[in-house]
Amino acid sequence: MKKITIALDGFSSTGKSTVAKKLAKHLGYVYVDTGAMYRAVTLYALEKGYVGNSESNFDALVDDLPKLKLAFKVNEISNNSEIHLNGENVEGQIRNLTVSGQVSKVAAIPEVRKKLVEQQQQMGLEKGIVMDGRDIGTVVFPNAELKIFMTASAEQRAQRRYKELLDRGEEISYEAVLKNVKERDYIDSNRAASPLRKADDAIAFDNSDLSFNEQFELILAKVKEKLQA
Ligand code: C5P
Repeated sequence: MKKITIALDGFSSTGKSTVAKKLAKHLGYVYVDTGAMYRAVTLYALEKGYVGNSESNFDALVDDLPKLKLAFKVNEISNNSEIHLNGENVEGQIRNLTVSGQVSKVAAIPEVRKKLVEQQQQMGLEKGIVMDGRDIGTVVFPNAELKIFMTASAEQRAQRRYKELLDRGEEISYEAVLKNVKERDYIDSNRAASPLRKADDAIAFDNSDLSFNEQFELILAKVKEKLQA
């Protein structure tokens, strides 16, 4: 059976990972959440005090990069793939606003991107992969058979993320989440190293007014077209 590479890019909190996960399960493909990789490196930088203070020490982080080992392992209870940093499962520590507040700065460091992109390309060698991020269709897999670019208004995305954080028990205001969403949009879109942009051959979806099932069905129809091509 033919296998393809599916690149799902877009702004933060557009619901990419939810669609990507379901798509991967449906197709029996590997799912890779590249945002989790940038978040895990950020968690490391925060723990070391390289970011999060008045002065960041990006050089020290770059020096430590060869020591950082990132791996995804399937959680046998939830059946979800979870990120491990140097052998420790850090999935539960990377989605809070402290990490979100620093991750775009860390993700703008060219050396960080180079390391993570190489690892992502290795993971996709066999195809049969759904990868979500910001630069998957432009940099990681420029030859992906299917590229999707998801957008929605900043307010709708912030509302979605706010609800997720509340459900996880975080004490946070909607305004703080909206501010973070807008800041990340700005930094991700304006950085020098592989900025967030739609690949010329990506299909753009504004999912502001689409239900999850509508989105899923639309994307699945595109996958089927590519599988038959
Ligand atoms: O996808 P998520 O919102 O978890 O990603 C967190 C951050 O990681 C993004 O705001 C962006 O700064 C960075 N990122 C990136 N390139 C990717 C995936 C994520 O720069 N491929």
